[in-house]
Order: sequence, then C-alpha cells, then structure tokens
Amino acid sequence: MSVITGKQYIERVDKLRTEVWIDGKPVVGKISEHPAFKGVMKSQATLYDIQHDAALKEIMTYPSPSTSEPVGMSYLQPKTKEDLVKRREMIQHWARTNNGLMGRSPDYMNTTIMAFASSSELLKGKKNCFPDHLQSFYEYAREHDLSMTHTFIDPQVNRARFYFENKNEPIAAKIVDRNIEGIIVKGAKLLATQGGITDEILVLSGGEMTDEEGGFAFSIPSNSKGLKFICRESFVGGDSTFSYPLSSRFEEMDSMVVFDNVLVPWERVFYYDNSAVANSFQTMSSFQAFVLHQVISRQIVKTEFVLGMVESIIDTINIKEYQHVIEKVSEIIVALETMKALVIKSEVEAKVDKWGFMRPDSTSLLVAINIFPRTYPRFTEIIQLLSASGLMTVPTELAFQSSIRKDLDQYLQSKGNNAEERVKLFRLAWDLTMSPFGTRQTLYERFFFGDPIRLSSQLYQSYNKEPYVERVKEILE
Ligand SMILES: Cc1cc2nc3c(=O)[nH]c(=O)nc-3n(C[C@H](O)[C@H](O)[C@H](O)COP(=O)(O)OP(=O)(O)OC[C@H]3O[C@@H](n4cnc5c(N)ncnc54)[C@H](O)[C@@H]3O)c2cc1C
Repeated sequence: MSVITGKQYIERVDKLRTEVWIDGKPVVGKISEHPAFKGVMKSQATLYDIQHDAALKEIMTYPSPSTSEPVGMSYLQPKTKEDLVKRREMIQHWARTNNGLMGRSPDYMNTTIMAFASSSELLKGKKNCFPDHLQSFYEYAREHDLSMTHTFIDPQVNRARFYFENKNEPIAAKIVDRNIEGIIVKGAKLLATQGGITDEILVLSGGEMTDEEGGFAFSIPSNSKGLKFICRESFVGGDSTFSYPLSSRFEEMDSMVVFDNVLVPWERVFYYDNSAVANSFQTMSSFQAFVLHQVISRQIVKTEFVLGMVESIIDTINIKEYQHVIEKVSEIIVALETMKALVIKSEVEAKVDKWGFMRPDSTSLLVAINIFPRTYPRFTEIIQLLSASGLMTVPTELAFQSSIRKDLDQYLQSKGNNAEERVKLFRLAWDLTMSPFGTRQTLYERFFFGDPIRLSSQLYQSYNKEPYVERVKEILE
C-alpha cells in the first residue's frame, strides 16, 4: 500500500466500530458522523488528501524503502541534515492547514513510531524485549499509513513520591496474565487525545516504574476486544464555522482508556515485564529528539497564527499607537523567532547516532519545549488584554441572520472592518482563548510534552554546566 486518502481514513475508522463512550452513551453507527467527531475527522481527512496533491508529492511523501510506492514523509528515518529539513517542511505544511491546533495530526504519532523503530537496537538482547516486533510494526504502519493515538500516563490517583498501588482490582493498566497468545492487560491509562478515531493505539508505561508488570509497550487496533475509550464532554460549540470557527473543525477530543482484560498478541508486544527498559527507553532512544523536532515545528506554525491574530485585532480596533500594545506584539515576535532559531539550531547541530540516523540536537529542542508551555498561556493573555470587551461582543451567525441585523451592522462595526467581519475575527479570538476549546488548547500546550516542572529538571540535569563553573573557579583563583 501507499499513502491513504481522507476517504480511506474515514472508512477504515468507521469500519472498526471502536467502543467509544460519550455522555454516558456508546457511539453507535459511523463515528465520522457523530457531532463530537465529524469536524476533526474531516480535518484529519484533509491532511491525508494533501498527500495526493501532485504538486506537493516531493514535500509530503518519499518512496517506500520496501515497495518504492510513495509513503508519508513523517515516517522518514532521517540520515542527513537535509532529511531533517524535509521532515520539518512536511510537518509545517500539514500544520498550516489547521494553524498548529491539531497536536495529534498524524505526523506526531508517525514520528513517534519512526523514532522508536530507529532505536529498536536498544532492546536487543534484553529480557522480554522484541526489537523485531517494533521494527515490523513501524514498517506496517508506514506502508498502511495508519492513524494512531497513544497513552502512557497512569490515572491521577495519588502522585505522592512513594505511592504503590496495592489493589486487587488494578487502577493503572498492568499485565495481569501471559499466555500462548500474548499478554493480558487490565486497568486504565489517563488520556488519549483522538482516542477512538484512529486505527491503532500505542500504549506505553510511563517513567519511574518500580513493579515489573507495569513496564510494557505495545500497539493494538482501537477495536481490540475489551478496549474502551471514555470521552470527556465534547467542546464542539456547533457546526457553524462563523460561530465556532475552531471547535467545529479541530476539536480532537480526549478520552480515558480502559483495558478490560485486553489480549495483546505477542507480535504487537515491543517489551513487557521489564521496568528497567520501560524507565529508560524513552530517554535513551531517539524518541525525544525526533518527536520534539515535530512538536516544535508545529508550535512555530501555531505561534505564527497567534501573531497574525493579534495584529488583525490591533488593526481592527486601531490601537497601534499605544506603546504597551506594540510591546506585547514584540513579545510574540521574540517567542516566534526564538522557536524558529532553536529548531534550525537543532538541525545544524544534529549528529549521526550510533545506528546511523541523523538525530537533531536534543538540548536546543528541550530548551524550546521549556519555553512554549510558558509563552503559550501568555499569548492567550495578550489576546485577552488587547481584545478586552471585543471578546464579549460576539453574537453568533444566527443573530446576523435575524431581524436585529441592522443594529449589529451599526453598532459592531470597527475602524478596520464592517460588523460581520469584525465579529468573525473576534469569534476566532474567543474560540482560541476563551471557549472550552480555547482553554483546552492552553492546558494542552502547558502539558503537551509532560509536566513542565519535570521538563525543566530534565534540562537542568542534562545540561553541561561544568565549563562555566570552571570559569568562575578560574577567576576566583
Ligand atoms: C489536553 C491534554 C491532552 C493530553 N493528551 C494525552 C495523550 O494523548 N496521551 C497521553 O499519554 N497523555 C496525554 N495527556 C497527559 C499529559 O501527558 C499529562 O497531563 C502530563 O504528563 C502531566 O501529567 P498529569 O496530568 O498526570 O499531572 P500530574 O503528574 O498529576 O501533576 C499534577 C501537579 O503535580 C505536580 N507533580 C506531580 N508529580 C510530581 C513530581 N514527581 N515532581 C514534581 N511535581 C510533581 C505537577 O508539577 C503538577 O503541578 C494530555 C493532557 C492534556 C492536558
């Protein structure tokens, strides 16, 4: 096979009849027609269709190493710095279609599985580890253009440093049996964004694992027997792209994942009953470098969108003459250029790893992922500070179609726009920063790559500070 179309993606996921629950009811019929999922599935389908645009073939695809058919560029295992640039251009091309608002566009998971496979040698010869399963799953995913989600954090029950779950009925997903067919998993994982609308789910144990049964990694089809996705309420405001410009298209949904004695066939188990590997694989593999390269590339596109939004608001209500307004826009420009510089630095300072893959510089990317969870909430604050009541004078499309239209046209006009254009812009700003969709976006970016506090510790621990301490010592001596 080769790259799929949007139609194929939708048909494949509809056919799975995955067990998805929302508002206490199971989704019945085609999930792509359910109000909570139809918008985002359509947006995802658009991404797959772009891969078939002849003009974009070079950007979006590369010839499969096994069949020479075009496969998605985000599966490319980079061997040169040029490959890294190609990957970034592809990622940003997709991201521009949703302005970086879809954190789980397929390139995120394609990159994850590519990164794991590129480090599969790390598993070689280790107890209960199957590097060949990982490698063949990567190739299968690449050749079938699988859509995937992932889940790795345990339910938020007790985060004390010395908490050990001791329950007969597991809460955090764990292996409860092993048999000739595979491992049996029972319990839950905290969250899977896009859970239920992908072909597969990659399941990993988080770090800091102490019990052997907690250490595992595998991927299974979303419709595996006993697997359930329990969604939060939908943040889709409605179908109107005037009234709900973002949630109607990009609401990815988050769901808790429940494993009710799910059988994971051996060929899909990458490792099991090995807490040492589980605790180290993500940090020792090229996961962080490759996946952060994708994440930061997307976040750059999102920052460009925020900048465009803020400048449009300023023009609309004509507030450019105020110094503090300019200062706030400059803050966004500084963040944008910093992120761009860091991603390019990561490519310039990339090095071939011991398995022959070109790994972007992790420190540059770790710095970027320490910056963005702090700057993104500030962007939403800046939009609120500059928009003020503009975020409240936002009647819906229906209001513009009613008999009060004349009043709206008269009283909601602005220096730069007529009333309808002005309200559309402010509804966009509202959906980005104030609606349930918008506030989730802020939380998402805060925790996108894990807890920001622990990410800053990781930066501190991994950064070589010694040469600078030496310089201080020298001058003292
Ligand atoms: C919108 C959204 C989408 C998500 N999508 C996915 C997904 O698709 N797949 C997936 O696997 N996960 C997903 N996540 C989960 C995400 O990875 C976690 O939110 C993140 O890793 C933080 O973990 P937590 O939520 O359990 O927070 P906790 O770890 O419970 O942290 C809560 C607070 O306690 C503090 N704290 C807890 N433990 C420690 C510690 N050891 N040291 C210092 N401070 C500590 C934290 O700093 C924080 O302030 C998503 C989260 C959000 C918000």
